[in-house]
Amino acid sequence: MDIKTIAVVAHDSKKQVLLDWMEEHYALLKGHKFIATGTTGSLVKQKFANIDIDIKLSGPLGGDQQVGALISTGKVDVLIFFTDPMTAMPHDVDVKALTRLAVVYNIPTACNRSSADFLVTSPFFVADYRISDNDYSQYLDRFEK
Ligand code: PGA
Repeated sequence: MDIKTIAVVAHDSKKQVLLDWMEEHYALLKGHKFIATGTTGSLVKQKFANIDIDIKLSGPLGGDQQVGALISTGKVDVLIFFTDPMTAMPHDVDVKALTRLAVVYNIPTACNRSSADFLVTSPFFVADYRISDNDYSQYLDRFEK
């Protein structure tokens, strides 16, 4: 099995949805490594005692940015981020930054349960799938003569 690093984050109203989703797909998820924001990670650890999980700070206290930094440095293979579209968040900019970096680095991302169902049951999920790099060389070289 290709062991993936899966970042899991859920807004408060979606935390139970994430736990239920993980339970439903536990057979597919077990054996992979997890990274999570603080509160989400604590709940996941409480429910799945044997899970390999690296728990970062709580999202509004910098955890989303920590996960984003790991994406930027190639340490995350999949992002499961169950967002709450009906509640204003004090850390809205961090939420946007995290989802933006997932796009920048072409990370498979699910922001709701049905997308997460598709993602985890994709043949690519169990394969040694290599994420193709987006080419930012023109951007990086824009001041080169
Ligand atoms: P939390 O953070 O897991 O610490 O609640 C989630 C979030 O970014 O809102």
